[in-house]
Formats: sequence, structure tokens, C-alpha cells
Amino acid sequence: MFEKLLRKVYVPRESWWKDWIKIDEKEARIRKFAGKEDWYVLPFSSCSGIASKNRRQEYWRPAANLRAIAREKPLAGFFIALDPGHLGGKYSKMEGRHFVIGEAAAVKEGDLALLVAKRLSKRLRGLGAKVSLVRTRKKPVTKDTPKTLRKDAEAWQKRIEGDAVPTQTKKERKKMVRRRGEILFFRSSEIMARALKVNEKLKPDLVVCIHLNAAPWPTPEKNSLVERNDYHVLTNGAYLGGEIALDNQRLEMLVKLLNRSHKDELSLAECMAQSFKRATGLPAFNYKGPNAVKVGEVAGVWGRNLMANRLYECPVVFLEPYVANSKQVFARIQAGDYEGVKEVGGKSCVSLVEEYVDAVIAGLVAHAASHAN
Ligand SMILES: [Zn+2]
Repeated sequence: MFEKLLRKVYVPRESWWKDWIKIDEKEARIRKFAGKEDWYVLPFSSCSGIASKNRRQEYWRPAANLRAIAREKPLAGFFIALDPGHLGGKYSKMEGRHFVIGEAAAVKEGDLALLVAKRLSKRLRGLGAKVSLVRTRKKPVTKDTPKTLRKDAEAWQKRIEGDAVPTQTKKERKKMVRRRGEILFFRSSEIMARALKVNEKLKPDLVVCIHLNAAPWPTPEKNSLVERNDYHVLTNGAYLGGEIALDNQRLEMLVKLLNRSHKDELSLAECMAQSFKRATGLPAFNYKGPNAVKVGEVAGVWGRNLMANRLYECPVVFLEPYVANSKQVFARIQAGDYEGVKEVGGKSCVSLVEEYVDAVIAGLVAHAASHAN
């Protein structure tokens, strides 16, 4: 089981893990620190009774146990955390999740994700689930700001410069350090604060991360929309060689592998992919590079190593439906959130937010129902 998960999900290339993890019939040995011959020995248990006795108690409960206690309502007993991606609001430009076409209103992924999460939380409670939002406003969870992280940004800049003679002007360098402070704020610090909230405070049974995908812009002016439109769903997996070589990521990968969150992650991701396919009629997106691994049998379900799906210990899926800068989706975003159906771009449809919410609910109910026995 350990080896199967390692090879199929977490580190698909043997050359990437063989210097860090050694496996024989009885045990796995894991290098504790880069450059040191200090190994953690993880004995395998051939007897499942012993294995379950030695298992760490996780804060989340697998779907198989939860469905058994759900009675009248399909999601009773499930504690679901919804994580609206990014920050939105006044941060959307800084985090690069913002675009404007002509005179139209700006598209901010963080704001759309929050709108979906708020609508979802109401509907899911109606189905018996307990629901928490990891982010409830267009504001960060972290208390840090780009300013408080200035020292770390400066250290990062120095690490990159090394002993090389600086080629940029003082002004350019200052600008660069400021940008590094921003990245440390909205990426590292914010995700770590959310992970702390999920693992230490909320302790949900699963997390649904709400995003909208975007395609690379065809022109540098970022003003012409694309035709491509699709969906995909992510589980944690596909650690690259350089990532498994980092002591912290190697440990975090092992936490995910050993707590068996992949089983529920895959079930949930497959149910979500199927429900998004039905709700949107879109094709599934396929990765081509080594940064993603195909997991399971359902189209559109991939493993990727993202900071949030690595740090949240419980099962977590990333939803990446819709290409926000496609002609079709842009028109639907501009049409706003409305009741009932409307004609948008020659097609009669419910609002994008409503369609997103419906698909997530269908996915969650199918995931719960598939564990009915
Ligand atoms: Zn996103």
C-alpha cells in the first residue's frame, strides 16, 4: 500500500524518490535531513490489526464512517470546510487574479470564489452538513502584511543575488524586494495561516477549495479572450524531484500518504469531476507536463502538489472549473448572478455562480452516497 501510493500518486518517478526513501518487504526508510545518513525507519505491518492499533488518530473522519451516521439528510454528520481561493477585493491585482477587458467590470477570481462559497454554505447546511468558510471576507486570514514580511523579502533577494555583482539600479532592487514581500504575503503566509486554521481550529472532515481556472493570454496586452473552456479537479500528488528533496515537503508528503486521505480525496474528486461534466457540459482538461499525475479512472481528475492541498491534512480537493478568460465564461461572469435562466451568448443558462453551486452539491451528495454501506 505504501509503495503503491508513493509510485502511483505522490512521487510518480522512482528517480525522484530513490535517494530519499528506501523500501524493502519489511519497512520503508526515510532520510530525515538532506545530506545526512540519518534515516527514519517505518515498519510495515502485514497484520492489519496491529496496523490499525498503531494508527494515529486523525481529526477528520472518513466518508465511510460518516455516511453511516447520516440519517434523514444526505450530508448529516459531514463537517465541510469551504476554502474560497485567493483574496479578491483590493488584493486581486497584487495576487494576479484580476483582469479587465475594455469597459467591462474587472474579473476577480477571489470575489467569485467567495460568492460561490457563501451560497454553497447555506445550501449545504440545508442538506444537514456542518459548514465553515476558511475565508469569510475579501481579506487575508494571515496577520502578516507585505510590510511586516520586508525582512524575509530582503533575505530572499540576498539569497538570489549571492555574491554576484548587482546589475539593477537601487530603485529597481527596491521594487523587486517589495514584490517579494507581496508574494510572501499572499502565497506563503496566507496559505500557512489557512492551514493552521484548518488543521488546528476547524478540524473538518474535508476541504473543498473553490477556484476558477484561467488560460494563458494569447497576447501580452491581455485583452483578447480565448476559445478554450474546460474543467478539472485536483487531489494532492505528483511531488517533483526538487520538492521531495526538501525536508519539510518530504515530511508533509508522508503525513498525507500515511493518513490515507487519498482514498477520500479521490472519491470526492471523481464525484466532483462527474458532476461538473454534467452541470457544465464542458470537456475535461488534460495536463501534459510532469507537474501533474493522472489519478483514478475519471477524466479531469489529477494529482498536483500545491501548498494548500499539501498542508491541509484532511482530504482536500481543488476545483478548477471554467476558463475565466474564455469568451463564453467572460460573458457569463459579466451577466452577473441572477435568478432563473437568462440568455447569455446565445445560450439560455442559469448564472455561473448558481451552476457552480449546483455542481458542488451534486458532487458532495454523490461522494456521501457512494459510501452508503
Ligand atoms: Zn485560483
